[in-house]
Amino acid sequence: MKYLVTGAAGFIGFHLVQRLCADGHEVIGIDNLNDYYEVSLKEARLAQLAPLPGFRFIRLDLADRAGMAKLFADEGFERVVHLAAQAGVRYSLDNPFAYADSNLVGQLTVLEGCRHHGIGHLIYASSSSVYGLNDQMPFATTDGVDHPISLYAASKKANELMAHSYSHLYGLPTTGLRFFTVYGPWGRPDMALFKFTKAILAGEPIDVYNQGQLSRDFTHVDDIVEGIMRVADHVPAANPEWTTSQGARDQSSAPYRLFNIGNGSPVRLLDFIEALEDAIGKPAIKNMMPMQPGDVHATWADTRGLFDAVGYQPQMTVAAGVKTFIDWYRGYYQQA
Ligand code: NAD
Repeated sequence: MKYLVTGAAGFIGFHLVQRLCADGHEVIGIDNLNDYYEVSLKEARLAQLAPLPGFRFIRLDLADRAGMAKLFADEGFERVVHLAAQAGVRYSLDNPFAYADSNLVGQLTVLEGCRHHGIGHLIYASSSSVYGLNDQMPFATTDGVDHPISLYAASKKANELMAHSYSHLYGLPTTGLRFFTVYGPWGRPDMALFKFTKAILAGEPIDVYNQGQLSRDFTHVDDIVEGIMRVADHVPAANPEWTTSQGARDQSSAPYRLFNIGNGSPVRLLDFIEALEDAIGKPAIKNMMPMQPGDVHATWADTRGLFDAVGYQPQMTVAAGVKTFIDWYRGYYQQA
């Protein structure tokens, strides 16, 4: 199959491209290599991907409408995995327009490309952050339980609504995946695991928000990639019934789906830090901090939807997963 992967130089995109190429697919990866976090890490990921058979990289911004239209017209993709986005909850407080450009206009250029070029299946990244203030645990993808409380989360919820409208109007098969706190080798420097590791190794204090009384459904990137691969091969079917007199498809006929991909077992931040201390072999100096605006107390994925559809549930324990990150970090930064 010929795949487009957006955000190929990003954390999850990098791992997904490796898996797609290993499975014999042809992959075009795009990314604008922005400097939200260290560009050298994105370049290092691309250097790993460059020799893979079937892989080609194109530097392109999602918000470049003409460039995106040309890409879709020139390449003839069969499947699209859309991962490029402006991530981060805290960054959205000071940089709101980055989310409009990359996440809203970006989702639209991808949807338009898919619509005009008969893409067989669009899989796109949403986020557990859409649940926001929801306190019904575990988080289910049922309508009405999500209450975004940051611009990042709102943009991800908007992605789902936009995808639904394209599935409904144009019969485009779409699957949205709400990822839950993804971690692993080649992970993001703006995320807690990376920041904590860097600080602990340097003997510096770490900022522990809400006095460590947060819990997150940490999910290893290998499990995320496995989930994406299974979902990609399981295309949502349209109901062929045309039900309204205007000739529009009835809502229920849209080939639209939404799944959580999360471990299904939340871990307290303090326990996560303990697993990290064990993996590094050194205690953390904890700087207890209040809750940050836009942050949520807990995330917990209801994993039944994914399991019922594709028979898969994430596997990796935090103890084993954190170790894979530390092994990579030590090698990459050559820090003992
Ligand atoms: P990442 O920041 O490492 O990767 C995103 C990539 O997209 C980056 O390389 C960036 O340069 C690129 N990009 C951003 N804006 C772009 C634009 N306008 N045009 C072209 N490229 C652009 O993030 P990630 O952790 O790999 O996340 C991938 C997806 O998963 C994102 O959509 C993110 O919102 C979502 N997600 C991630 C997590 C997580 O914990 N990592 C959790 C929930 C959802």
